[in-house]
Amino acid sequence: MSDSLSFILNELGEEHPHGSVATPLYQTSMFAFESVEQMRRALAEETQSYFYTRGNNPTFTALERKLAALEGTEAALLFASGSAAVAAAVMANVEQGSHVVCVQKPYSWTNKLLTKLLARFGVEVSMVDGTRPENFAQAIRPNTRLLYLESPNSFTFELQDIVACVAVARQHGLLTIIDNSYATPLNQRPADMGVDIVVHSASKYIGGHSDVVAGILCCSQAMREKIFSSEYMTLGGVMAPFSAWLLLRGLRTLALRVERVAQTTPKVVDFLARHPKVEAVLYPFHPSHPQYELAKKQMKRPGGMFSFRLRANEMAEVERFCNRLQRFLLACSWGGYESLIFPACTLYGSANYQNPWLDWRLVRVYIGLEDADELIADLRQALECL
Ligand SMILES: *Cc1c(COP(=O)(O)O)cnc(C)c1O
Repeated sequence: MSDSLSFILNELGEEHPHGSVATPLYQTSMFAFESVEQMRRALAEETQSYFYTRGNNPTFTALERKLAALEGTEAALLFASGSAAVAAAVMANVEQGSHVVCVQKPYSWTNKLLTKLLARFGVEVSMVDGTRPENFAQAIRPNTRLLYLESPNSFTFELQDIVACVAVARQHGLLTIIDNSYATPLNQRPADMGVDIVVHSASKYIGGHSDVVAGILCCSQAMREKIFSSEYMTLGGVMAPFSAWLLLRGLRTLALRVERVAQTTPKVVDFLARHPKVEAVLYPFHPSHPQYELAKKQMKRPGGMFSFRLRANEMAEVERFCNRLQRFLLACSWGGYESLIFPACTLYGSANYQNPWLDWRLVRVYIGLEDADELIADLRQALECL
């Protein structure tokens, strides 16, 4: 056997039978046993064994191992969506009467989970400006159980100093959770900085092709067992084997994609930052960002998403600009091949200029894998309409 083949077989093990190079898709809902004794043992060890696919599946195991290795954690657990992963991570670690301190302006459904859904079960939340770690410390109460971070957040791109926030949490014996979807484990490894649970919307960079909705969390083996035996199995929002297979495929090019957008995005940001019709760019790796130094310290390279504020007097101008773009799709998600645009004004009712947290002049841009010059040319022609 050649060295490389034995390496693959040894390294990847039983998820690669017959020397299959790609991981097989185990599209099965259950696993059969040769004896009652075997079945009894598998049931008793359900958090580790193959018993039923609302549980473990060899395609899941292959993906979990890779994700845990990427994030530097002992284990990982897969969910039907990023929101399911966020909900499981939070719910497994609070009870009636608990309090959570969360960075302000988290992902919208994380916000609803904490402020609406969990409020029905007596869980309280304080939202704080996460740019100053002291704000987390000041919000802590006797019933606080965890700090929830999202750095950077995905519309205004504010950072939290992860090391400082973990220090606050440890001082008070609190658990930390971070949403790391934007940075990916290749650009930011929160577990290395002491974060307990790292969650991802794998619908974004990890999938990478806008064809799967999926979520993951990376944590210790003990935390995986705890979440597996409660929220994972009872709420049942598990990943489909085919989604896991698509994510395994997406992971193979993650490094290339992340490198590519780290080259192209700063060029597009630079163009916009200098344009007279643009008031400001919100991008952690642009020198105008108030946390530029922190970005360079805790993230390995620039990401592919940012927002900018147009110099517009009315919403209709923002709409005209967005409608004129040819190379950017108007769509909500991100992480795939195509460049996208998401104007904040879509969050406003028509002719209603009231939104407590987002300026209607903001436009979020996701840079895909296209050529930077073509994207810049398109933005230039669209800005001429202002
Ligand atoms: C999209 C997103 C989520 C939710 O993930 P889904 O896979 O859509 O459920 C959570 N956090 C962030 C930062 C996201 O961008």
